[in-house]
Amino acid sequence: MLHLAGVAAVAEQGRYGASKRGIKMGSGKGLGGLPAPTPTSGGLKRLTFSSPTAGPDKCIFCQIASKKSPSSVVYEDGKYIGFLDLFPFSRGHTLVCPKKHGETIWDMEEQEIAELFKVAFKVSKAVVAAVGADGFRFVQNNGEAANQVVAHVHVHVIPVKMEDKGRFFERKRFSPDEMEETARSIRSELA
Ligand code: ZN
Repeated sequence: MLHLAGVAAVAEQGRYGASKRGIKMGSGKGLGGLPAPTPTSGGLKRLTFSSPTAGPDKCIFCQIASKKSPSSVVYEDGKYIGFLDLFPFSRGHTLVCPKKHGETIWDMEEQEIAELFKVAFKVSKAVVAAVGADGFRFVQNNGEAANQVVAHVHVHVIPVKMEDKGRFFERKRFSPDEMEETARSIRSELA
């Protein structure tokens, strides 16, 4: 898990130009003059967001889900969408998220969480097959402490090769053509 936490921390840094100010675990105090978090049922305090991506109007993943922003979509159904990470750790690094805006996994119903991971499971098989990976990681960050930057629930599906074992990664960039080719391969595995 330490490995995952480390990867997660790197994974979220500097993405989508978001502010370093992210969310904090519910401390009972609001951030930057925002109202204090509202407790949810179950006694858990809500995680607060104060980053520029907060709220469906400004959320890049909501824009991707509604096709207002372009992305290399590999999976889509009525409620969930999977698309290539723009700053991938490896070829095929995919993000799976609910189309409905929610900041963290605490904003989801249990059934929705099950559905999200079922989609991520399905996508992982296609991703691994498409890029010839030897394994994969699920990374799911919640809150500023986990370096979650985009304030919309998402699961990273990161394919890895044997030579990556135990290593941390650096973000890579692929050309639009390379991204589309990878997305096409994954989609064909899902078809
Ligand atoms: Zn959103």
